[in-house]
Amino acid sequence: MAILADTTNWRPATRLVHEGTLRSEFGETSEAIFLTQGYVYQTAEEAEARFKGELPGFIYSRYSNPTTDMFEKRMCALEGAEDARATASGMAAVAAALLCSVKAGDHVVAARALFGSCRWIVETLMPQYGVAFTLVDGRDLNQWQDAVKPNTKLFFLESPTNPTLELVDIAGVAAIANKAGARLVVDNVFATPLQQKPLELGAHIVVYSATKHIDGQGRCLGGVILSDKEWIDKNLHDYFRHTGPSLSPFNAWTLLKGLETLSLRVRQQTESAGRVADFLAERPGIARVIYPGRADHPQAELAKRQMKGGSTLICFEVEGGKKAAFAFENALKVIRMSNNLGDAKSLITHPATTTHKNLSDEARAELGIGGGTLRLSLGLEDTDDLLEDVAQALKAARQG
Ligand SMILES: *Cc1c(COP(=O)(O)O)cnc(C)c1O
Repeated sequence: MAILADTTNWRPATRLVHEGTLRSEFGETSEAIFLTQGYVYQTAEEAEARFKGELPGFIYSRYSNPTTDMFEKRMCALEGAEDARATASGMAAVAAALLCSVKAGDHVVAARALFGSCRWIVETLMPQYGVAFTLVDGRDLNQWQDAVKPNTKLFFLESPTNPTLELVDIAGVAAIANKAGARLVVDNVFATPLQQKPLELGAHIVVYSATKHIDGQGRCLGGVILSDKEWIDKNLHDYFRHTGPSLSPFNAWTLLKGLETLSLRVRQQTESAGRVADFLAERPGIARVIYPGRADHPQAELAKRQMKGGSTLICFEVEGGKKAAFAFENALKVIRMSNNLGDAKSLITHPATTTHKNLSDEARAELGIGGGTLRLSLGLEDTDDLLEDVAQALKAARQG
């Protein structure tokens, strides 16, 4: 197994192709899939030394695996993190990061605009184990500050949020967390590691659903947790060994291949998103367009400060509520209806009746999700085909 020479001065796109590669004695070009549960030791002494941690090497694929290791190393390089653990899904990553940061009697402050399952962990699961919570409007730093209690140990947010692409000032929240002696976990799925670097902004832990842009081709689930080595060794390592949320080596390989093309895909999807957002903003029948790359985004200044580029998603509201939104969706020909995102295929969803249907009307209104709200994740199709598709669907919706 040979590891590459010094890569520290390489730019992200280069590291996404090469970083972390472990090449076997056969010198394979493409990373190998080590589809193995265990590892054979040459001598009893070697097994003893590996278990003691005196000799490097793999022991069991619930703990670590060469293909998964390559994926984790490449993610570390991209994120600028000391260490990482890959998980079987994004939710396994979020659950591990949150559960390993608190114990009974602690208190969590979280932004209320969270991915549905993340909100369930904070609102339903954690209280079962004696962890209290406060939900705040993530955009308002005063609310974060006011929610702090003597036992606050954890802050949790995502930015941009799903589906309305609101932003949270990550550096501002990190400063409040640091003063309170709490850790900040950022779910960075919507921004991707290329457009936002939470660790540089002061966050302590970053989590991803690799299911989204990192795979980016709709194939497998995966997740990853990135942080400093000390936190991972002390707080996460044993949880991982003993509860087994590990990523399968096959899926790790799929995600490694996804990373090779991540920068190209995100660049193209962001360009399409910007063009479709600008196009829709000028159309009659569209009540509003929310896109972090546009000057009329309510937090355009913050977007410039903490994000590189707009987003690969846009959120917009058609006039005429649910009826018009459904007519628009049903008329689309290129863009497909699905609740996934970050895919090579452009995907649209109606949050009020799908991803956010379990929220009360009041909670949905608080998040700005109405009957006419649609979330569009841009894929890799020719942008002109996407523009023609939304134009004809809008026409159909207005006639219907
Ligand atoms: C999809 C998603 C998750 C969950 O990831 P899975 O891989 O589906 O488990 C968590 N947070 C955000 C923001 C997501 O978009």
